[in-house]
Amino acid sequence: MDQEIRTPDAKRMIRGATGDWEMIIGLEVHAQVNSQAKLFSGAATAFGGEPNSHVSLVDAAMPGMLPVINEECVAQAVRTGLGLKAEINLRSTFDRKNYFYPDLPQGYQISQYKSPIVGEGQVLIDVPGEDEPIDIRIERLHLEQDAGKSLHDQDPRMSFVDLNRSGVALMEIVSKPDMRSSEEAKAYVAKLRSILRYLGTCDGDMEKGNLRADVNVSVRRPGEPLGTRCEIKNVNSIRFIGQAIEFEARRQIGILEDGGEIDQETRLYDAGKGETRSMRSKEEAHDYRYFPDPDLLPLEFTQGYVDELRSGLPELPDAKKARLIADFGVSPYDAMVLTLERENADYFEAVAKGRDGKLAANWVINELFGRLNKEGLALDASPVSPDQLGGIIDLIGNETISGKIAKDLFEIVWNEGGDPAAIVETRGMKQVTDTGAIEKVVDDIIAANPDKVEQVKLKPTLLGWFVGQTMKASGGKVNPAAVNAILKSKLGLE
Ligand code: MN
Repeated sequence: MDQEIRTPDAKRMIRGATGDWEMIIGLEVHAQVNSQAKLFSGAATAFGGEPNSHVSLVDAAMPGMLPVINEECVAQAVRTGLGLKAEINLRSTFDRKNYFYPDLPQGYQISQYKSPIVGEGQVLIDVPGEDEPIDIRIERLHLEQDAGKSLHDQDPRMSFVDLNRSGVALMEIVSKPDMRSSEEAKAYVAKLRSILRYLGTCDGDMEKGNLRADVNVSVRRPGEPLGTRCEIKNVNSIRFIGQAIEFEARRQIGILEDGGEIDQETRLYDAGKGETRSMRSKEEAHDYRYFPDPDLLPLEFTQGYVDELRSGLPELPDAKKARLIADFGVSPYDAMVLTLERENADYFEAVAKGRDGKLAANWVINELFGRLNKEGLALDASPVSPDQLGGIIDLIGNETISGKIAKDLFEIVWNEGGDPAAIVETRGMKQVTDTGAIEKVVDDIIAANPDKVEQVKLKPTLLGWFVGQTMKASGGKVNPAAVNAILKSKLGLE
C-alpha cells in the first residue's frame, strides 16, 4: 500500500449515521496528446471528421501492418512529465493489453504496463479554505492508444463502429490516492488541465472527450486501512467528477453502516439522475494478459534529449503564480485565479505592468472576468482590451475619476469601445477636485438637514450618510477622500 502523506482532518469528514467517515480518492486521467498524427500511424487526429475518414491500415488493424512510433507524441509525454515535476524514465516499453471490444479491431490496446515513460511526480492544488497548496502525488504517466467508438443510435437494427479515434495517442496520468474531498479532486483536475494547456501537450477540451477521468473512490473510518474502492469510468466534466464522488461516497457509507460490504466494481456516473450505477465487476489486471509488444522496440532516450525538452518548457502555473505574487503584490488566491489559464495571466500582466497590481487584479478578476462570465464570453472575445482597462485604472490612479465613475466608464468602453481618457473628457465625467465646488455642495446639504447635523455629533457613523448625499448630489464625480475631509471639518468632527 502507498505510504500515506495526509493526516485525517475533521473538516473533510463526512458525518454518517454511526460516526465520521473519510473519503479516499485517486484519479486516472486520460489526456489526448496534442499532435497532428496518431501514436503509431500517420492518420490525422482532427476532431469531427466523417466517420472512418481518419483511419490508416494500422488503425484498422489490417493483418501484417506494423506500428511506427510518432516521435512528437513521445516528446509531448516527456514534456508533460517534466511539467508534473516527475521522473522521466530513459527506458520504457510498450505492452499489449488484451481484450475484446468491437471498437478495438486489434483485439488489444498498445499501452505501457511495467515500464512507463514517466514515473512519480507532483501536482500542487489550491483548495478554498486552505492557506497552503496541497501536494497530490503522481504515480505514473504512460502512453497508450485510444480505441474507436461504437455507435448504437444510428440504426435500430445494428450498431456501427467509427475508428477515427482508434490509435489516437493518450497519456494516462495516474495519481496516488491522495485526495480527501470532492473539492480536492475538482481542484486537481483543474490544475492538471491547466498544466497540460500551458505545456501545449493536451488541449484539455473535456466536452470533446480530450480529457476524461476514471475516479477511484473508497471510504473508511479515520485512521483505518483503505477500504474497497469503486471506479467510476470516463467522467468528462469537472462538475460531474465532484457530483459523482459525493454520490458514490455516500452510497458506500450507506452500505457499510447497514452492515454490508463494498463490491470492487466499475461504475458509471449518470449525470441526468445524479447517481452512479454498476457497469461491471472489476476484472483483475492479469485478465488482460499483458505482454511486451513484439512489434515495438523499447523507447530509449539520452539525458541530453530530456534536458533539451526541459529547456523549451514555458513558465508553468506555479512559477507564474509565485511571480505575480512577488512582482505585482497580488494575493495568493487572486494569483491562482489569474494563472489557471495562461491567456488570463497574459491579459493581467498587460494591464498591471507599470500600475498598481492589486488594483489591476481587482479590475481584471471582478469587473472584467465577472462581466465575461455573465455574458458567457471567452477572454479572447472581450470587448475591452488590456490597454483600455489599463487606461481606466490610470484615470482612477491619478484621481481624474472616482472608483464609482470608473464602473460607469467601464460600461461605456464595454458597450461602445473608445479611449477611456477621451470618453471622460468629452462626457464631462472628470472628478471634481476643486474643493470650492465640493464645499458648495456640502454647505447645501448641511443647511437642508439640521436634524442630521445634530445627530452626527453623537453618532459619528452618520458621516457616511453625508458622504452619500454629497456623492449623489454631484453625480458621483467628487473625490470621496476630499468629501470626507471637508465634511469632517464642516461638521466639527475633528
Ligand atoms: Mn488507460
